[in-house]
Amino acid sequence: MTYRIDQSGTPATVFGNLFTIVSQDLGFGTDNVAGDATVQAVTYKKDPANTTATAQRVLDEVNDPGTVVATGLPSGTTIILHTDAGDTLFDITGNGVTFHDRLANVIRILYDTGQCNGSGIFTIGLDGHTHIPTPNPVVLYHEMSHAFHQLRGTVAATSALEEQAAETDENVMRDQLGLPERLTTDHTGGCGGGGSGGCLVVTAAYRSEVENPARWLHAVRGAMLPRYGLGGQLFSQAYAQYLEFSADIAASMRVDDELRATVRSLVVDPLLQVYAAAAARWLRTSVVQHAAGQLDRPMPAAVRHPALTPPAPELASAMAAILQSALTSPGSLHAHRDIPGAVRRVIPLIAAGSIGQLTRWALVEPLALYWELGAEGGDIAGRLPAAVAQRSADWLGRAPTLYGNPPSDPARLADDLRAVLVRMRLSDEEQIALSRRLVELHSRHVGYDLSAAIRQAGFVHVAHIEAQSISGPSSEGGAG
Ligand SMILES: [Zn+2]
Repeated sequence: MTYRIDQSGTPATVFGNLFTIVSQDLGFGTDNVAGDATVQAVTYKKDPANTTATAQRVLDEVNDPGTVVATGLPSGTTIILHTDAGDTLFDITGNGVTFHDRLANVIRILYDTGQCNGSGIFTIGLDGHTHIPTPNPVVLYHEMSHAFHQLRGTVAATSALEEQAAETDENVMRDQLGLPERLTTDHTGGCGGGGSGGCLVVTAAYRSEVENPARWLHAVRGAMLPRYGLGGQLFSQAYAQYLEFSADIAASMRVDDELRATVRSLVVDPLLQVYAAAAARWLRTSVVQHAAGQLDRPMPAAVRHPALTPPAPELASAMAAILQSALTSPGSLHAHRDIPGAVRRVIPLIAAGSIGQLTRWALVEPLALYWELGAEGGDIAGRLPAAVAQRSADWLGRAPTLYGNPPSDPARLADDLRAVLVRMRLSDEEQIALSRRLVELHSRHVGYDLSAAIRQAGFVHVAHIEAQSISGPSSEGGAG
């Protein structure tokens, strides 16, 4: 247990970043260090199903006899580094640094968790000129690569080669997060541009606000679905589709305040409301609260205090109509007449979201549910939990995909599914719907008895599912 989180600076962010680096593995946690209240020790009992390289790196550093201390610092902090070569004054803004602290005899990682006071940290993409986002977990993982080399005595001969090695590692983290890769021969980086990565539209919608709900969204997602196994595959496939259209729209929102406000009130805040209702239904907070410490992130005001004034009826009915079209005949979206200008402005976003099966299912359908309630008038937020409960099993049963590649080993699949039940409180009906969908999508492609593996994971009523999938009508058509 020799990886420590400094309790000064921004320890909760460091915890959250490490939790991201271990792919939201619930085996990750912290413990007190006897006689030293200034640090917490990282404890890590890796989930055997979690085979991500980044999780293995954390495990290696936790198990190494040398000590690494990670400190998150707000942008603008200036600090003296007690390096082996002497003392040096260092401004953390836009930076991460790893060095041997000669006074404490530890390897110290310091990094700017404030992302240049919110303006973002950029580095250079593979084309040699594009500024790409470099969010905190990427910065920390890069520094952990340097720390690892120091622990193992494998620091490269020149700083350029050492940077190249750290940037090669960094790209592994980037791949996992669905972020563009960095050019490993260009070590340029700094403040501004690049964006924060992640949910581009949500981030653009809240541009100027401290309380960016994208972080809350990531925390909830991470607590429910780890980035490996079933949850990881489902999310990365959906996220790849989302990235295809979100960058352009987010870019327009950054230069058009009216568009930004419109997308926020008609799309982003309503979606956050639906996701919050789903999270309240599914998330087993008692199990994940400690390990998923980043759930301490403040719930965004948009979710905590849903608008008390209901949307104008003509706006709500127009949104409901547009979304209905998006789900049934996306080609006809622009044919709608006499719709309010605000609604017209979000049509391109809705149209783009309804092209991909996964984004249609994960984004457009939940948004349609919200506006269906909106068109009925009254207290939308109050009625959302019941509406989500009523449709969730059907929705899960229509997942366009679940695994890109199901595990080739039935024990691994059972581990994966068990992990879902540990994190999510799924009703019997929801478990059956999910199991049935898994059987429909994958029973013919895995070389083992899929139903048996599902049963082994503890899902209910598997016998019933087998009966359905054998005698029931085939429903796989078109779902590939
Ligand atoms: Zn470096």
